[in-house]
Amino acid sequence: MSVTQTAYLYKHTSPFESRTIVAASGIWLTLRNGQKILDATSGAAVSSIGHGDARVKEAVVSQLDEIAYCHPGFYQTICAQDLATFLVNSTHGKMARALLTGSGSEAVETAMKLARQYFLEVSPPQPTRCRFISRQGSWHGCTIAALSVGDFKGRKTMYDPIFPINVGRVSACSPYRELRKGETTEEYVARLAQELDNKFRELGPETVCAFIIEPVSGSALGCTPAVPGYLEAMKAVCDRYGALLIFDEVMCGMGRTGTLHAWEYDGVVPDIEVVGKSLGSGYIPISAVLATERVISVFNSGTKYFAHGQTYQSHPAACAAALEVQRIIQEDNLLERVRTMGSYLEHLLKRQLGDHPHVGDIRGRGLFWAIEFVADKATKAPFEPALKVATKMHEKGMTRGYDISLFHANGSADNGWAGDHILLAPPYIVQ
Ligand code: PLP
Repeated sequence: MSVTQTAYLYKHTSPFESRTIVAASGIWLTLRNGQKILDATSGAAVSSIGHGDARVKEAVVSQLDEIAYCHPGFYQTICAQDLATFLVNSTHGKMARALLTGSGSEAVETAMKLARQYFLEVSPPQPTRCRFISRQGSWHGCTIAALSVGDFKGRKTMYDPIFPINVGRVSACSPYRELRKGETTEEYVARLAQELDNKFRELGPETVCAFIIEPVSGSALGCTPAVPGYLEAMKAVCDRYGALLIFDEVMCGMGRTGTLHAWEYDGVVPDIEVVGKSLGSGYIPISAVLATERVISVFNSGTKYFAHGQTYQSHPAACAAALEVQRIIQEDNLLERVRTMGSYLEHLLKRQLGDHPHVGDIRGRGLFWAIEFVADKATKAPFEPALKVATKMHEKGMTRGYDISLFHANGSADNGWAGDHILLAPPYIVQ
């Protein structure tokens, strides 16, 4: 094993030696050989404000000068309070509290625990609610509960026997692949709502805690915004059966799709929201779980508290970095930039690639775009050139970003997969 592979627990077949990054600034990464690479994917939709912003560095250093760590269960810090307050205020009163966690997977697990405990604390308690419903092909992270609520078969099948969580699955909202010939968007939404309703009744509504979805699907579906009316219809079904709606905005949230919260676009507010990636722009890992008054109120009455605590929850340095990242997004008017540059990117992609015989669909919102490849435009037969395209992108000086959608073997293998779509998600500062 070469020295450069010691940071991996597996034998990496990629030429990693040539992909060692030694510096980064703005939208550019610098390889060891001096080559500059445009970060066209922001890592995996992480680097919202770009690399090497001195303002974030200063904020972190001054936080470290003040306090680097204290136990989040016994003490609080001003920066954690400020970040939580910023997040809550940014929802204009829709969310009541925010809990600050580390990674997207942790935040998803925390949201699931919160949903479960909500039904134990609510009056009268509903202890039979211990199941979740999620969508086919979804990705919600790689820890045990997040993996089990997700549906990325290539990454989860081998762990199935140790998953404790009971998950029901419904179709994703993917009009390019699933809208039937002659079907209107309204009819499509009604069909998906009926499917969710059927799933609740099949599982027994009294057994379901929550339905978890991405309002704009990220890697698994390839930057697919929900069709108009879809989120509202899903919320109505959850409300009908008293279950919570969780929006996983780890990838699409915090400005990536042009509004700070992706749900603002459709105006449908979830009961619990999870954010990550763009929150801290990758300077220090941080994620958050936001919850509405409906959820929080049951914990506020009586002696109940959310039975959850992690050593690095509300980490001061991470909070300081994220707070500064969010201040920069506001001060530099970057949401406006996401919308303007996103429209421009859409225009360019559709103009340059729309007529290509192997480009089936170009979809996304804000600075969050996917290009799906097909063998044949008419039949939409799957096609797997994404790895090759991504490798070419790297050779030409852009970061690689490719994935495989559920319609194509459903991530059947994690090794040797070629992918059927590529991702473009540059930092918000791109010009
Ligand atoms: N949820 C979604 C929608 C994601 O895209 C991801 C990561 O890609 C996660 C959760 C997990 O986040 P993390 O990799 O930070 O644990």
